[in-house]
Amino acid sequence: MVSDTVTEVVIEKATVELLRRAETRLPIDIVTALEKAYKAETEEIPKTQLKNILNNIDLAKESNIPMCQDTGIPVFFVWLDKAGLILSPSAISDAIGSGVARATEIVPLRPNTVHPITRSNPGDNTGEHMPYINFIPSDKEYLELAVLPKGAGSENMSALSMITPTQGVKGIKQFVLDTLLHAGGKPCPPIILGIGIGGSADISMKLAKESLLRPIDQRHSDPQFAALELELYEVLNDIGIGPMGLGGKTTLLGVNIEFAHCHTASLPVAINIQCWASRRARAKISIDGAIEYGD
Ligand code: SF4
Repeated sequence: MVSDTVTEVVIEKATVELLRRAETRLPIDIVTALEKAYKAETEEIPKTQLKNILNNIDLAKESNIPMCQDTGIPVFFVWLDKAGLILSPSAISDAIGSGVARATEIVPLRPNTVHPITRSNPGDNTGEHMPYINFIPSDKEYLELAVLPKGAGSENMSALSMITPTQGVKGIKQFVLDTLLHAGGKPCPPIILGIGIGGSADISMKLAKESLLRPIDQRHSDPQFAALELELYEVLNDIGIGPMGLGGKTTLLGVNIEFAHCHTASLPVAINIQCWASRRARAKISIDGAIEYGD
């Protein structure tokens, strides 16, 4: 039986609420990491920067307003229900598009999307391929939506390298280090490093972004990648870039890796940097139209 309760109106409503939540409150794992970093800093400048960030987060939550003027571009992930009974991908796309336009007006969001050449701005965060929606098959009975609004400061520091397979893990670490040093204070540290390893150029980039959906206190289920996440987090935090690039003990809040098998002659490595404003929100939508929100 096809759902007659999950309509485009339900998805539009969930989209508005997801964007409002993501923009005005950070997930608990991110806030906890920032509080831990604040306690650990002993120098005045990084401690003040972290205090300002934490105050900003509190103020955004209390006032129900976005925590940063750059409210990002609308990137969505949609896990389709197993039987495909809830709503078709094209109907979901239309509903998310309407929800983004509505959220731009009422949250409100800064209208960030522009034509890449003419720079004309539709004014509602829509446009060609915007909002961008990643559709993913799933074995669940419900539909799941996640939003990851991405600001330009951190997104502009993204990097891809097609290193050779013989460079292996050593080459991966070197590329991550080079990318972090090049980024410096531009992505508003402390940051989260999303790393995609393997697949192809585009797949590794997609995995790097998708990895940012995972809470930073959850390690990869594969012990090899979990160990690499921890090692990179510990070693790279000693680099000294610090909060907002002004020096200090905390450059990273977390490192998340996702991987895919790749061609025997390739080893793509992609990095998607997320700033301290690591905004994400999820919603589960059941076949009866019930919506359950989370991080
Ligand atoms: S990088 Fe993040 S915190 Fe910095 S301006 Fe952009 S969205 Fe805001």
